[in-house]
Amino acid sequence: MPDIPGFDDWVETLDIDLGEGSGEEDSRRRRAVLMRWLKSLYDSQGPLSKDLVEIAFVLDQISRAQDNSAVVLRDIERSGRRCPTIEVDDYCNAVRISIDGSYTTPSVWEWENPEALVETAAYIQEQLMDEDVWPECPIHGQYLRPEARGGTAVWWCVTGDHPVAPVGELGTASTQ
Ligand SMILES: [Zn+2]
Repeated sequence: MPDIPGFDDWVETLDIDLGEGSGEEDSRRRRAVLMRWLKSLYDSQGPLSKDLVEIAFVLDQISRAQDNSAVVLRDIERSGRRCPTIEVDDYCNAVRISIDGSYTTPSVWEWENPEALVETAAYIQEQLMDEDVWPECPIHGQYLRPEARGGTAVWWCVTGDHPVAPVGELGTASTQ
């Protein structure tokens, strides 16, 4: 029976490139996220080859970006704006979110929620802001910024320094 490499030995063979982090703390945080992801992959699939790990990783990121885009789209729908056509796919091994055909890649850099949801909301918001300000604080009339607060992605009013609603629940009965 061939020896199955342990988790640590397997990770070593993958020779992972974490890319450019913004500082040491950020790199540490991203490495921890990646290790959690690799551990769950290893536990369910065993020691896959580097090629397969990369494919699994991109597919996982695309699926998260699809889910997160759908969450943000709910907020747009509820606001009565025209809903853009959002498509998520992979472009050169990175996630691409196209909004009415326009995009920048990688469209999201974060690997986990709530950070990835915040980033997706900001990305979609930026595309919509070419037309006008969205979304607005119902009290202050100024634009809201998506932020990760207390483990949740929320629309945050910068002017009044207060939360308005979780991303995906803007304008629902519970947040008015
Ligand atoms: Zn406000």
